[in-house]
Amino acid sequence: MNQQQFENFTASSLYCEKCKAAMPVRERLLLVLPDREIFDYLCTECGSSVGRREITAGEKLMARAMAERRPRRSAVPHRRTP
Ligand SMILES: [Zn+2]
Repeated sequence: MNQQQFENFTASSLYCEKCKAAMPVRERLLLVLPDREIFDYLCTECGSSVGRREITAGEKLMARAMAERRPRRSAVPHRRTP
């Protein structure tokens, strides 16, 4: 498994020691710190913690910037001048 595949892989499933297989996981916000947020990944089958991820403020900003690259013009109210 190469690095890139692994990175994509971690987003939706992780290896669970209890289930002895790569299981789909759900993300749970574990801790919010001033400069980062820590997420816990729980196996959807047995509920045990299979991983943890830290999202720094910088990463969050980047994620937001990526999300905002899609223009949402419908959300902006139109100003109609007569
Ligand atoms: Zn499991």
